[in-house]
Amino acid sequence: MPEVLDPTISARLKRDDAGLVAAVVQQHDTGEVLMVGWMDDEALRRTLTEGRVTFWSRSRKEYWRKGDTSGHAQYVKAASIDCDGDALLVQVDQVGAACHTGTRTCFEAGGDLGAVVGDRAQQDGAGPDSAGPDRAQQDRAQQDRAGQDRAQQDRNEHGNQQNEENR
Ligand SMILES: [Zn+2]
Repeated sequence: MPEVLDPTISARLKRDDAGLVAAVVQQHDTGEVLMVGWMDDEALRRTLTEGRVTFWSRSRKEYWRKGDTSGHAQYVKAASIDCDGDALLVQVDQVGAACHTGTRTCFEAGGDLGAVVGDRAQQDGAGPDSAGPDRAQQDRAQQDRAGQDRAQQDRNEHGNQQNEENR
């Protein structure tokens, strides 16, 4: 009898056209965001039941259990699904480098993009000194709502970028 992913979990997955869901991998104790990989139902089933992270390789079209060739295994500590089911968060204990380039995380390897740093107090041109307490509270509420809109936009947009894989 073949093992399958728990149907209550499978029903919550919102897969892309290739049947995959993005999985963000995070070091469980430091919070480091290590890498992003892709999972289909079987890769997720293995990840949830074997204590090691398994991805689906889009380039090689095969399962790859992280660390089997590199030695840089990921030992599963927890796994979560996001609100709308199109992304997974896997918290792990990462052995050595998560990135195939040899850096601890794929984002160190990719590098900083030099984003303009935003500041909550400057978003509408009104600093904390120019408004009374009521006004400041109102601004805070508006900014929180804007943040929720941005979060929604992020959810709609993520999952489209290609990811270098590390066996
Ligand atoms: Zn990488």
